[in-house]
Amino acid sequence: MRCLDRGELSGIGMTSQRTRDRMVARLAEAGIDEPRVLEAMAREPRHLFLDEALAHRAYEDSSLPIGHGQTLSQPWMVARMSELVLATEPERVLEIGTGSGYQTLILSRLVPAVWSLERIRVLQERARMRLARLRVHNVRLRLTDGGHGWPQAAPFDTILLTACASELPDALLAQLGDGGTLIAPIEDDDGEQWLTRVERHGERYEYQRLERVRFVPLLEGVIR
Ligand code: SAH
Repeated sequence: MRCLDRGELSGIGMTSQRTRDRMVARLAEAGIDEPRVLEAMAREPRHLFLDEALAHRAYEDSSLPIGHGQTLSQPWMVARMSELVLATEPERVLEIGTGSGYQTLILSRLVPAVWSLERIRVLQERARMRLARLRVHNVRLRLTDGGHGWPQAAPFDTILLTACASELPDALLAQLGDGGTLIAPIEDDDGEQWLTRVERHGERYEYQRLERVRFVPLLEGVIR
C-alpha cells in the first residue's frame, strides 16, 4: 500500500488547508460550536473521500455522489451528527452506512472505538483503503445489512445511522446500552425525514425529533 505524501494529504487549491478552514468557519457560523468537531473537520482531508473528478468540490456546502446511488453527506450534516454523538461522550460507537468513510473518519478522531457497517461491497472496500492510508486504527468495518447491527460487539453507547428508515430495526434498539443514545434520520407518515435522537432508559426508548433532513434510504440485503 502506498502511503500518502504531505501534498496529497493537505491538498492544494480547492483542496487546501485554507479551503478547509473556510468550510469550518461556515460551519461555526451555522451554529456548530463543539470545538473538537470543528478541529477534526479542519484537519481531515474530505477531498480524499471522493472521486478525483469531484475532489475540488469537497469543501462546498453540499452532499456529493460517491457511486451506487449513494452520497457523502454535506459537511454541516456530518458536523451536526458528530456533535450529537459527542454530547454524551461515548466510548463505543456503531455507525450504520460507512459510505465513503468520511463520517467514520471524523468519528474515529473523536471517540475511542468505532464499528461501522456498510451493505455495498465496493463502497466498503474503498472506505477501508482510505482509512488505512490515513492510519486509522480504532475502526472496525464489516460488510453486512446494518439493520442487524453488530451483536458480537454490543452493547454500544451510541448508534448512528447515516441512512433513513421509517422504523428503527429492533436489533439496533436492542444493541443500544442502557443510557445510550441512537441518532438517526427517521421518515414520518408524510415522507418527511427528521433527524431523531432516541435515548434508552432500561426498556423505555424516548424519541426526540430534532430537525428536518434529507438522507438516502436504509435498504435491506448486501450487494457483493
Ligand atoms: N456516512 C456516509 C454517508 C453515506 S450514504 C459518508 O460519510 O459517506 C448512506 C450509506 O448507507 C450508503 O453507503 C448506503 O449504502 C448505506 N446503507 C443503506 N442501507 C444500509 C444497511 N441496511 N446497512 C448498511 N449500510 C446501509
